[in-house]
Amino acid sequence: MTRLQRTAVEKMTQSRGLKMTPQRRAIADYLQAAHHHPTADEVLQAVNRKFPMTSRATVYNTLNWLKEAGMIREVFEGGMVRFDPNTARHHHFVCNSCGKVEDVESSLLSALKICKLPDSQIVEAYEVTLRGLCAACQKK
Ligand SMILES: [Zn+2]
Ligand SMILES: [Zn+2]
Repeated sequence: MTRLQRTAVEKMTQSRGLKMTPQRRAIADYLQAAHHHPTADEVLQAVNRKFPMTSRATVYNTLNWLKEAGMIREVFEGGMVRFDPNTARHHHFVCNSCGKVEDVESSLLSALKICKLPDSQIVEAYEVTLRGLCAACQKK
């Protein structure tokens, strides 16, 4: 499974001697269900709806250790750091109109033909950002 799962988060917290607080559980649940690559502020707002008084530090710390544990990744898009609970290799589609960031499975893109690089670097992986109009914005 390459998508963040709350059960895996619980195992990880236990093995690191961390406490799975209700706030951390809410953060894990939110990320597990989120498909829009939320920013830390969006995570904070969502968790605050359930647990008002959740501090920014709690959210940032939790996001940090989830990232360190390899359970989420950071995606830089639109000048913001976003969090991605999908750690499988994949690409992104960014809507030029609403700014939404969607996942594109790597199998949907045929292999890129990469020309010889200037310093003969060896490419091991690549991520492509496709840009255009999302389904919702096409209907507007
Ligand atoms: Zn859109
Ligand atoms: Zn993604």
